[in-house]
Amino acid sequence: MTLKLRCKDYGFECEYIIDDDKTLSLIEKLRNHFEEEHGIDYTIEVVSQMITNRGHSLESIKK
Ligand SMILES: [Zn+2]
Repeated sequence: MTLKLRCKDYGFECEYIIDDDKTLSLIEKLRNHFEEEHGIDYTIEVVSQMITNRGHSLESIKK
């Protein structure tokens, strides 16, 4: 199962899109993008919450 995440859905003027398997590494990719491109060092927990708040279920991800 894959999940598509658009950076602009999280408040940035940015065309970055991740479309990947729904695993913890997907969350880490988005987290790393926020840090490297936008200079914001969110925790995995915060990014997970942001994704959940967009209506995506992360229940199937094993931590
Ligand atoms: Zn971005």
